[in-house]
Amino acid sequence: MTIQQSIPAPAAPEATPATDATSRVTPMMEQYLEIKAAHPGLLLFYRMGDFYELFFEDAEIASKTLGIVLTKRGKHQGMDIPMCGVPVERSEDYLHRLINAGHRVAVCEQTEDPAAARARGNKSVVRRGVVRLVTPGTLTEDTLLDARTNNYLLAIARARASSGGDRIGLAWIDISTSEFMVTECSAAELAATLARINPNEAIVTDALYGDPDLGPLLRELASVTPLTRDVFDGATAERRLCDYFAVATMDGLSAMSRLEATAAAAAVTYIDRTQVGKRPPLSPPSREAAGTTMAIDPATRANLELTRTLAGERRGSLLDAIDCTVTAAGSRLLAQRLAAPLTDSAAIARRLDAIAAFVADSATRDDIRTTLRAAPDMSRALARLSVGRGGPRDLAGLRDGILAADQALARLAQLEAPPSEIVAVIEALSRPSRDLAREFERALADQLPLIKRDGGFIREGYEAALDESRNLRDASRLVVAAMQARYAEDTGIKALKIRHNNVLGYFVEVTAQHGDRLMAPPLNVTFIHRQTLAGQVRFTTSELGEIEAKIANAGDRALNLELEIFERLSAMALAASDDLRAAAHAFALLDVATALAKLAVDDNYVRPEIDGSLGFAVEGGRHPVVEQALKRDGQPFIANACDLSPGPGQKSGQIWLITGPNMAGKSTFLRQNALIALMAQIGSYVPASRARIGVVDRLFSRVGAADDLARGRSTFMVEMVETAVILNQASERSLVILDEIGRGTATFDGLSIAWAAIEHLHEANRCRALFATHYHELTALSAKLPRMFNATVRVKEWQGDVVFLHEVLPGSADRSYGIQVAKLAGLPPAVIARAKSVLAKLEAQDRGQTARALADDLPLFAVLSRAAAEAAAPSEAELLMEAVRALHPDEMSPREALEALYALKAKLPK
Ligand code: ATP
Repeated sequence: MTIQQSIPAPAAPEATPATDATSRVTPMMEQYLEIKAAHPGLLLFYRMGDFYELFFEDAEIASKTLGIVLTKRGKHQGMDIPMCGVPVERSEDYLHRLINAGHRVAVCEQTEDPAAARARGNKSVVRRGVVRLVTPGTLTEDTLLDARTNNYLLAIARARASSGGDRIGLAWIDISTSEFMVTECSAAELAATLARINPNEAIVTDALYGDPDLGPLLRELASVTPLTRDVFDGATAERRLCDYFAVATMDGLSAMSRLEATAAAAAVTYIDRTQVGKRPPLSPPSREAAGTTMAIDPATRANLELTRTLAGERRGSLLDAIDCTVTAAGSRLLAQRLAAPLTDSAAIARRLDAIAAFVADSATRDDIRTTLRAAPDMSRALARLSVGRGGPRDLAGLRDGILAADQALARLAQLEAPPSEIVAVIEALSRPSRDLAREFERALADQLPLIKRDGGFIREGYEAALDESRNLRDASRLVVAAMQARYAEDTGIKALKIRHNNVLGYFVEVTAQHGDRLMAPPLNVTFIHRQTLAGQVRFTTSELGEIEAKIANAGDRALNLELEIFERLSAMALAASDDLRAAAHAFALLDVATALAKLAVDDNYVRPEIDGSLGFAVEGGRHPVVEQALKRDGQPFIANACDLSPGPGQKSGQIWLITGPNMAGKSTFLRQNALIALMAQIGSYVPASRARIGVVDRLFSRVGAADDLARGRSTFMVEMVETAVILNQASERSLVILDEIGRGTATFDGLSIAWAAIEHLHEANRCRALFATHYHELTALSAKLPRMFNATVRVKEWQGDVVFLHEVLPGSADRSYGIQVAKLAGLPPAVIARAKSVLAKLEAQDRGQTARALADDLPLFAVLSRAAAEAAAPSEAELLMEAVRALHPDEMSPREALEALYALKAKLPK
């Protein structure tokens, strides 16, 4: 899209933004350069009349990114100054594109009336100031935000530990909804935590940004802003937070660790800076205690396609399949829950109770959903009003929200024995003052403009003074109409019109053939020529000038009165913002509960039983996304059971090894069980006929082979890094799915790695696991590993082809039918025939025999042998080197350095 070249508005008093012919810096350029220097790294939108102008390098960047014309304006130090501009009324669109392209923008406004500058003298420059920094994590406008996604700003603070094991404090805020959360994690957990929060912008210290270990992780985020140390100063954190929340101590608002408070203070300081003094109200920081959510690392999130498919689309993801919410806030809450499944079975049960109530009562569910559709996004409307970016429709949104709350309450009252989550919803929906809604109903007109400066949004009869000004304005307009009739008669020109535009104001217009008559005596005494166009001639009269001033005055007065009323109503809303926010959150809860209930009924899901055991028993399990896709094609999904529960001896860590042909449904089976566990723990019904799940603390998935060439890792390296994470971190409570690990290397290397990994999972991790493989040799392991169970996916051979039945049964496959699948895929017949004969030769060598011999010969598991464990342990010298590497001298106080020296000395062999 291109826009017209910008022209500074004619009304602007300033001559040129640049320097004059003698290359002296003009006062305006002086002002520009000063403001620009104060905002390094940001594009400066410099307000001139109806445009935001950009100069120098900013102009070059913006014109390239936005595809707008680059022009030049004056000279600076003998060189042309590049310039481009965007019209103010369409600036949001341009901001959106610049932010999406990774830029940040400082918006600089005229902070006084140009007339005031003129009054100070001819050469005076209009005062200007930056009113806001637009960054990806601090947006509030509807047009700049995705309605269904939270927009988080994340602050990351670190506390160094000389013994390694750094701690990380995190605080994340969505200023468009006021949500504010804090938590703490170890450096090792940072990747999983970042993937869960999925911030749009992160702020960190320069030191952390450049850190050799954590820096690369941070630089992978969508947008990272390194800041100076003072923003992350722990000593002043509490004071800055108290200042923001206008309280004497944070104790009453929130319990936080010092590190969490440091991150929280950094986040509010950054918001203060970007909003330039305007403070959007935030909920008090809510603390997420460690271990309350299921840990899911970034690779697992990606592999399971929770919110995006591997191709990056929302469509086809789990979220897309289960999101039946009808409001943007509900959709955001569901995404939050999906990102952070719970580990507390009582909390999960509370969510499930709410769904159960709406599963049982479909009439209430449908009515509530109809009501919710009419309830606007109240939290985002409030946030916009709080930073002065709200419009009349935001007020109307709050009014409609409160009215919808009444309707929802009436319907909820009919629920028999409402569960505790619904009781809390009822309490929250009752909170906002009904008087506020009534006042807004009285005040707001039926049709509302988008922006308040357009006026006309206050209902007639609401305020006498406003009605009076409007009458005056409208009456004057009638006078103009009467004047047109009189002029037409006096001049004898029937086609004479009085028109209006922004440049000339009111004017008389006649066609070219009548123009001469008005310019000749006697009419030229009354009609003063203003403009001649191709077909028309335009005139003014002194009478018209007078009436115009009256209309403008009355119109200005009416608009100013409306804006005053807007501010009054907006202040009333903000005074009630806690209650309104609580109601908005209650709507979101209600939306999620009714949506998940609808999904459960429509797709035949069941309420999972969640407990503290290590069990995992799913009957009739299905893959939620594949099932929906097949349904659309009229195909059935074959349900399958899976039982990883401890056996009669009550030993944890059941492992299913699944072999079976290509395309049989192994990956689908693995994923569906992981997704069922995850859905159960977000408090949703699950696609199964029965599910009993002992709470999973961490979910791991290694599926398929994905290159990560951007980070310089090959397919096999990625696979091994992810497998290493699983083998090092999975606990007895974890659920692991491993799909075809060891495939990216030579057959025997891969088989050996897969073999050793299964042994490790069985003996060391003792977690519940599903392992799919084409290495049929691995099935021999079940003879040695008591809790390993072989399962296979059934196929039928029919006239040399293979028919997939998708049924998972006990047993093992003896072949992969890879060649049959290749035939289905259309490989040339000659290649298929040749592959068959090669396979026959290879099979004659019977690798399976070798493997069975191996299983018999190898000592069970190397890690179990003490000698082997000691051989693998690091030496003292290695430990010492490790400790020295962990030191960061630049960031240590002299005292810390001394302590570190003592600690190292203590590590030396006695
Ligand atoms: P490969 O070994 O080649 O990776 P796979 O055994 O992992 O194959 P999947 O990718 O899980 O096979 O499944 C292949 C296709 O079979 C799926 O895309 C789906 O359309 C279908 N399918 C899988 N499971 C089922 C099922 N239980 N019911 C119906 N269709 C299924």
